[in-house]
Amino acid sequence: MRTIIASIFVTIFAVSLAAVSYFNHFYAERALQRDTEQLLFEFHDALVEAKSMLAGLPEPDDFRCNDKTYGELVHLSFENPAIRLLGVLHDNEEYCASDAVTVDLSAYKSHALSGGFSMASAAHGDEHTDLLLVRTHGNSRYFANLNPFLINHLAEHACLDCLSYEITIQGEPTINFFGEPLSQAAYIEFDSFRKEGPLGISLSIKGTREFFEYYKELSWVSTVAFAVIVASVLSFAAYRLLTIRQSLGRVIKDALRFSEFVPFYQPIVDSRNGQVLGAEVLARWRRGNGEIVPPYQFIPFAEDSGLIIEITEQLVEKVTADLKRFGWNKTGQFASVNIVPEHLDSDVFYKLLTQGMERHGLIPKNISLEITERRQIANLAQARKALDAFFEYGIDLKLDDAGTGYGGFSYVQELGISTLKIDKMFVDTIQSDDVKRSVLDAIIAFAKSSELKTIAEGVEDKAQVEYLEQHGVYAIQGYVYAKPMPAEDLVDWLAKNESEAS
Ligand code: C2E
Ligand code: CA
Ligand code: CA
Repeated sequence: MRTIIASIFVTIFAVSLAAVSYFNHFYAERALQRDTEQLLFEFHDALVEAKSMLAGLPEPDDFRCNDKTYGELVHLSFENPAIRLLGVLHDNEEYCASDAVTVDLSAYKSHALSGGFSMASAAHGDEHTDLLLVRTHGNSRYFANLNPFLINHLAEHACLDCLSYEITIQGEPTINFFGEPLSQAAYIEFDSFRKEGPLGISLSIKGTREFFEYYKELSWVSTVAFAVIVASVLSFAAYRLLTIRQSLGRVIKDALRFSEFVPFYQPIVDSRNGQVLGAEVLARWRRGNGEIVPPYQFIPFAEDSGLIIEITEQLVEKVTADLKRFGWNKTGQFASVNIVPEHLDSDVFYKLLTQGMERHGLIPKNISLEITERRQIANLAQARKALDAFFEYGIDLKLDDAGTGYGGFSYVQELGISTLKIDKMFVDTIQSDDVKRSVLDAIIAFAKSSELKTIAEGVEDKAQVEYLEQHGVYAIQGYVYAKPMPAEDLVDWLAKNESEAS
C-alpha cells in the first residue's frame, strides 16, 4: 500500500512539476516577447520622430541661436518625450540646445547613415550609452539626444549586467549598451522583430538565462511547492479511495466469518388467485449491532471483487434450510437466487447448492437461478455448459432485468432461459405515455413468441397489475403484494396470505 501511494505521489509530482514549469516558462517567454516588441516599437518611433524633427528645422542660413530659436528647440523636445535634447552646432562655434547642457560632439563616436544622417554614441560610465541622431547640413550639425528611458524600460524588470542591447546600422553591429556584449552564451535574442528601422537602423536585445528568470511568475521554490501540494492532495485522495475499498473488502470478509449475510424473501404472486409461486432471495447484511445494510452498499463491490461468490454460498446454506421450514419441499414453490457469471466458472457452486438441497430434503424445483442481463458474460458456451448441469438436476434459469443490458436475445438463445423478469423500469411506464410503454409491450410479445414465462418486477399498484394481466403477465413481484422480508416474517406472511386466499 505504501509503495503504491509513494509511486502515485512521485508520478503526480513529476507530472505537475513538468506542467507548472512548462507554463511558467511559456508565460515568461510571452511576457518577454511582448516587452521586447514594445521596446522596439518605441525605439523605432523615437528614431522616426527625431529624424523628421531634425529635417524640419530651418536651414543653417536662417537659423541663428537666439531666444526665439532656443524657445522653439525647448518646445520641440518638450513635445516628444522620446527626445531628451535637441540642439544645433554651426561651424563648430555657434551652439544652442533645448537644455542648458553642452553636448561635446567630438566626444561621440559617429556611425554614418544615409541622407546626411549619422548616429553618434558615447558611453556614460556603466549607466547607459548616450545616443544621438545627427544631421549634417553644410557646416552645421543638428542633433537629437534619444532618451535612454526607452532602453531602461526592459532593464527595470531585471539586472543591467545580464542584458545587452545592440544597435545595428545597415546590418553591422555598431553600438552596444551596458558595456561589452554578453560573453556567455546569450540565452534570449529577440532581434527578429522589425529588423530594419528608418535609416537602416535596428535594435537587438540579448539577455542571459538569469535575465529570463526575472520574467518568471514563479520561482523554482514556488514551482516545487506547487507540485508538492498538487501531488499531496491527489495522493491523499488516492489513498482514501484505496483504503475505503480495501477496508470494505476486509469488513465483508469479517462479516462472512460471522455469518452476517442473510436472505430476505420477496414473494412472487399469481395475480389471478393470490397464490404464492415462490420468492426472490435478496441479500441483506445484518451487522453485529442489528443494523441492516441494503444491497447497493455492498453488492457492487462484492461483485467486482469476487466476494459475491462466498456471500451467495452463505445465503444458499440458509435458504435451503429456510425452504424446508416453509414446507416448500411439499408444496413446490421456488426460491430464486441471484447469481453472477463467475458462479458458472467451476462446479463448486453447483455442488454446494445441490448438496444443501439434498441435506434438507428439497425437491429440484424449489431452487431457481436468476442472472442479470446488466453484466456481460465473457464465454456464453462455457456458461451454458455449467448451466446444463443445473438444468439436468431440475433447476431453471431466469433472465433478470430483461431488456436493460447486454444482448438479451443471445442470452435467451444460448443460455436456456425459462423466464424473463421484466424490470421495474418498464413496469413504471404503464401509467406513462404510449411511446415508452411500447418497449414493455415488445418485451411481453417477445416472451410470448419465444415461449418464455414472465415475472413482472417492481409492481406497486393495482393499475399496473391490471395492465399486466390484460397482457398475459400474471406472476407479480412488488410492493403491491409485499416488500422483501426475513424468513421469520415470511412464515407469518405466508400464513396470513393463505387464510386470505381461502
Ligand atoms: P434485483 O435483483 O433487480 O432485485 C429487485 C430489487 O427491486 C430489490 O431491491 C427489491 O427490493 C426491489 N423491489 C421489488 N419490488 C419493488 C417495488 O415494488 N418497488 C420498488 N421501489 N422496489 C422494488 P434490493 O433488495 O435492494 O436489491 C437490489 C439489487 O441488489 C438486486 O436487484 C440485485 O441486483 C442485487 N442483489 C440483491 N441480492 C443479491 C444477491 O444475493 N446476489 C447478487 N448478485 N445480487 C443481489
Ligand atoms: Ca434479481
Ligand atoms: Ca431485477
